[in-house]
Amino acid sequence: MIELDDVRFNYGGGGEGGFALHVPSLRIERGESVALVGPSGSGKTTLLHLIAGILTPRSGRLAVDGEVLSGRSDAERRRFRIARIGFVFQDFELLEYLTARENILLPYRINRSLRMTRQAREEAAALAASAGIGGEKLDRHPHTLSQGERQRVAICRALVTEPSVILADEPTSNLDPDNAGATMRSMFSLVQRKGATLVMLTHDESLLDGFDRVLRVTDFLVGEPVGAAR
Ligand code: ADP
Ligand code: MG
Repeated sequence: MIELDDVRFNYGGGGEGGFALHVPSLRIERGESVALVGPSGSGKTTLLHLIAGILTPRSGRLAVDGEVLSGRSDAERRRFRIARIGFVFQDFELLEYLTARENILLPYRINRSLRMTRQAREEAAALAASAGIGGEKLDRHPHTLSQGERQRVAICRALVTEPSVILADEPTSNLDPDNAGATMRSMFSLVQRKGATLVMLTHDESLLDGFDRVLRVTDFLVGEPVGAAR
């Protein structure tokens, strides 16, 4: 479950014309899948980074999976994120000095409560193969993969430990319809099998049907809409 109560955030000093969000009240239940939509620059990534504890609210209460994140230190929020959240970054954030396989298995290296067993490695390879990252591609470094392949490596890394919360920032933006469909199926499968909570950002109206609920980030903007935000 994700809970936001009277959460406020702004970049910089929060003066005139700056970007500001206010979420009076938002509940996303365990096992629920939510699409968060809105034009470019409307604050989707900012809201997802707040939920992930990458950014922290200026005021208000934010809790994820039973843990109150507002008011916690950077280190505590990071530890929580590593343990419970599978996050797909808009710009992937793959590590260039690691191969695709090592990037996908990275959560096993940084999450002390997980053990990288032979079974974990086999499951990771199977997940990657189902995302079309098979064979020798697994041993390549990110810069030798296409944008779409890199995005699928980032999705595999977020899903490989079967986290209870999946936060995905436009995870299908570089994918053709077949690969986008496969990505949606692997995320929804985790929601169904494990009761995971999914929040996905997207521009793509054709993907919205599968979600329990669609939220519009423009409903949380403070003051005049920024740029093309309405
Ligand atoms: P979206 O993901 O919907 O495209 P973002 O959340 O990335 O939107 O950005 C929302 C607004 O906040 C934009 O106007 C953007 O320019 C601004 N913004 C994003 N990151 C920063 C930052 N680090 N400092 C200042 N402004 C930012
Ligand atoms: Mg964004």
